[in-house]
Amino acid sequence: MEKVANLAKRRGFLFGGSDIYGGLQGTYDYGHYGALLKQRIKDAWLKANVQQMDNMVALDASILMHPKVWEASGHTANFSDALVDDRISKKRYRADHLIEEQLGMKVEGLSNEDLTKIFEENEIKTPEGKQADWTDVRSFNLMFKTHAGPIADDDAAIYLRPETAQGIFVDYKEVQATTRKKLPFGIAQIGKAFRNEITPGKFIFRLREFEQMEIEFFCKPDESKQWHEWWQKERMRWYVDVLGIDKKKLKLRPHTKDELSHYSAGTSDIDYEFPFGFSELEGIANRTDFDLKQHQEVSGKDLQYFDDASGKSFLPHVIEPSCGADRIVFAVLCDAYTEEPDEKGDVRTVLKLKPSIAPISAAILPLMKKPELTKLAGKVRDDLATDFMLDYDVTGSIGKRYRRQDEIGTPLCCTVDFDSLEDQAVTVRERDSQKQERVKIVELKDYLADKLS
Ligand code: ATP
Repeated sequence: MEKVANLAKRRGFLFGGSDIYGGLQGTYDYGHYGALLKQRIKDAWLKANVQQMDNMVALDASILMHPKVWEASGHTANFSDALVDDRISKKRYRADHLIEEQLGMKVEGLSNEDLTKIFEENEIKTPEGKQADWTDVRSFNLMFKTHAGPIADDDAAIYLRPETAQGIFVDYKEVQATTRKKLPFGIAQIGKAFRNEITPGKFIFRLREFEQMEIEFFCKPDESKQWHEWWQKERMRWYVDVLGIDKKKLKLRPHTKDELSHYSAGTSDIDYEFPFGFSELEGIANRTDFDLKQHQEVSGKDLQYFDDASGKSFLPHVIEPSCGADRIVFAVLCDAYTEEPDEKGDVRTVLKLKPSIAPISAAILPLMKKPELTKLAGKVRDDLATDFMLDYDVTGSIGKRYRRQDEIGTPLCCTVDFDSLEDQAVTVRERDSQKQERVKIVELKDYLADKLS
């Protein structure tokens, strides 16, 4: 994990948030390459789930929502984690995580009293292995609270959304009516979510501000099981075929009965083998009609779907594939990170990203800082920039520049040398094989498009 985090920092993919002020825990900023990589992943998700699916549409709902939304969804009452304090160090921890890590026991579904008992009956230490004096376990609500308007009283209290899903439920009828969709259909949304996590960390795995990519797929109640299965297969396919993640590092893990949320008729997680073990990338839940029923009851609005064929109205059931863009960036970086010996016996670090998601598609490199070379290279760059995300680099030896691009994951480097002035061709070097090929400048656009597709 350290190697991946170091590379991400060194090459400007990710920086700790508010670093010059000592940092703000649970926040990260994406630099140039990180922002581009994350955008590629979001674009790939939107392409697969909206552009290529006839029965899916997009939405961009507000982060701030009416406080009743969170009452209806159950977040105000239940969106909490089990918190325990150590009176000695005055530090706070996730009680369930400490038990799971130290006793190897799954504790989902247990009450705070049960968790407190486990702490009393076992010698549980701090994550640093120190003796602790634990308080009782209690619930800690993860929603960030703020105030709308100039008066900061309880009536003005609102929350930053802890998930994007509720925006979809609240808007579903309008989206359905305006896009004239019939069941089954889905709404896909990408957006920021905020959770006041007790213990953010593991690089960008657990953040307080993060981005979710969520789908709510509405279907007839008796078809929900079949669609739940379908989405599990489809989402696994996306990670392997579209992002190019190693299949062996992915696992579909159905939740046990104890683990299931109160609204769920079945949930499976897609776990990725991070450096600290298999952990959740995405949850795919069969949420039944729980959310629509709740919103219908609390808002007093009819949220039923009218089925032309049967002449009946009913609440659709919902399948929710929900993933986090930041966790996927992390998984993609881990998966692509490769160290291999080079011809001099040194180590070559390469991000073997699938070309379609690499932040930079090609680098344009004049062999030397000579005006005739930089002029031609500048022209090559200008001609290609409409179609490709490029890096133009003149600093350092050509070998060093290749290494820099290897670490960013750039699939192709195009070098403009003195021969280029004569033959109007460049040398194209491929990242993984390091093979070089001479390509005519007039053919470069088609050549790159072909290699990158
Ligand atoms: P965890 O058990 O890891 O806290 P969760 O089960 O609470 O996650 P969900 O509510 O199912 O997560 O959220 C859906 C997805 O959003 C997760 O699979 C994950 O990819 C992402 N996600 C959730 N919380 C965070 C976070 N704090 N930081 C980054 N991504 C997150």
